[in-house]
This record gives sequence, C-alpha cells and structure tokens, in this order.
Amino acid sequence: MPKQRISLIAAVWLLLLLYACQPDSGGQQQGATPNANNQTGSQTSGKPVVNAPAFNADSAFAFVQKQVDFGPRVPGTPEHKACAEWLETTLKQYAPATNTQSATVTAHDGKKLPVYNIIAAFNPNAARRILLAAHWDTRPNADQDTERTDQPILGANDGASGVGVLLEIARLLAANPINTLGVDIILFDTEDYGDYGVENSFCLGSQYWSKNPHTPGYRAEYGILLDMVGAPDAIFLQEQNSLSYAPDVVKKVWATGNELGFGSYFINKPTRTPITDDHLYVNQIAKIPMIDIIHYTYEGNFGAFWHTHKDNMNVVSKPTLHAVGQTVTTVVYREAVSYW
Ligand SMILES: [Zn+2]
Repeated sequence: MPKQRISLIAAVWLLLLLYACQPDSGGQQQGATPNANNQTGSQTSGKPVVNAPAFNADSAFAFVQKQVDFGPRVPGTPEHKACAEWLETTLKQYAPATNTQSATVTAHDGKKLPVYNIIAAFNPNAARRILLAAHWDTRPNADQDTERTDQPILGANDGASGVGVLLEIARLLAANPINTLGVDIILFDTEDYGDYGVENSFCLGSQYWSKNPHTPGYRAEYGILLDMVGAPDAIFLQEQNSLSYAPDVVKKVWATGNELGFGSYFINKPTRTPITDDHLYVNQIAKIPMIDIIHYTYEGNFGAFWHTHKDNMNVVSKPTLHAVGQTVTTVVYREAVSYW
C-alpha cells in the first residue's frame, strides 16, 4: 500500500476519532446507564446515545395485581390504609427518600377523608427534576354499571394500572441510576371520590399537594400523569388540557411513543374534549406543566369498563402497559442526557 494512502487513512481515522469525542456524541458519559439493555436513539442523527432500560411488563402487571388483591382502595377503608403502607414500603426499597404526605380533606358529601400522597424522590438533591404521577385510590361506587351500582370497584385499570407502570419505572431507576436528573414519583390519593356534577370534587389528593407541595417551593421541569393505561384496546389521544398547558411535553412523549413502534396507542390527534384529572390542578395551582396519558376514545368516553365492576384484571393488558411504560422510561432517560 503506497505511503500516501496510509496517511490518508490515518487522517480519516483521526477525523472520526475527533468527531467521536465531540460532546454531542458523548451522551453515554453524561448519565446514561452502562447496564441498560435496550438501546434507543441514534449516533448518526447527531443526538446523544440513550440507553433506556427495558421496561418489564410482567413486573408492571404483577404490581397491578398486587394492588387489586387488596380489594377496592376506597379512602377511609382498611384496604386503602393497607395498600398505602404497601406502596410506601415498596417505593422505599427503590428510593430511600420516599415519604407519605398525610392530610384530611372534606369530600363533596361532607365526609372527612384521609389522603395519603406517596412520594418517592430519586436523586433528591438534583436541581433538574421531572415528575411522574398516577392516582392509587379507587372509586367508591360502580355508578356506570347496571348492577351493584352502590358497591366499590376494583379499579384495576382506573388507578392500579398507572401505579403499576410507575412502580416498574421506580424499579428501573433504582437498578439504572441517573445522576444528571432528579425524578419524583407521586402516587396521588383520593382522585376518584368525586361527584360528576360538583366542580373540583375529584382529584382531592392532587389539589392538596398542589397547594402544599412536599418540599416548599418544589419545582419540576414538567410532569407526566398516567391514568387508565392498561386496557387491551387503549388509545391515547393528545388530551386537550395537556396540549394547552404543556404542548412541548405532549410532542416529546407522542413522538417517542411513535418512534418506538407504539403508534397504534399514541395517536397524534387531540381528544374530543379537555379532561379534568390530577394534572389540571398541578398545572393551575402548582404551575408545573404536566400532561396526562389517559385512555379516551374518539367518541369521547373512557371505555366500557369505566366506573363499573368490569374494571378488573381482564382489562389490564401487558402489551399496553409495555407501550406506555417503555415510552415514559425512554423519555426520562432521554431527558437525563438532554436529548431534545
Ligand atoms: Zn375514575
């Protein structure tokens, strides 16, 4: 081989080496995790490499089952208290900085209800933070059913599914720590005790937290709420309050979901109406931009299981948990390396 060609090859190698050392392509050093086993992202696009861990839907499903096994988790009942204790113990295993915010609130019917907002802080001293949330309580009656309408529901999808996904994300965060970003997981209580006709009668736990955050002056760059994320036929349209308050976050999450192959769940169309859920109060009172990933049909309803006795483990599907869980996990690990 002529000497000149050798020099040329050496020069090309040198250029490649210099390119590889640019900060933009060194994302792995900025906090991505060496043990992660599901690589996403691309070096050729000029974006940092993101090693998001693989979301385990079997594990998330088991976390949903465990909650349902307590029975209905209606605020003020022994089952509710027992589940709160289990949730706190479980999260503490993954995030030592886990605490329960306890309060008493007055419901629309005048009842005094206990609220246990369970809060896990990963990397509690990090300045940059994002917030993930779901409600863990269940509705006290099956008012949308045709039978036993005064009996409480199991809330496998409406409540437990979002929490199951977040507990699995907590497990992943503990196994694959991020050092450039703080993540707070808040399990809001007493979301579903409301009366449809009484304004602000739902979401009592998140309203309380938004007025009294666990850390005074608490800030997060943004939040993602999960609600009813388990149904086999779930679709996630872009919820209108989320589009109003946090359009960039909607864009990130839906683009990531589509990129990962979950386009049949993450539909790039708005919901028919805005939805009042915990994120609305976090947006309005705590002033943290927050979106809601929530099952809502094109026709504008939550599905046949909603607030009925059909909301049991039959409406919890591992592929749906996986689509949501892997998407949110990837967004979190991308955020850690300032992917966007
Ligand atoms: Zn509900």
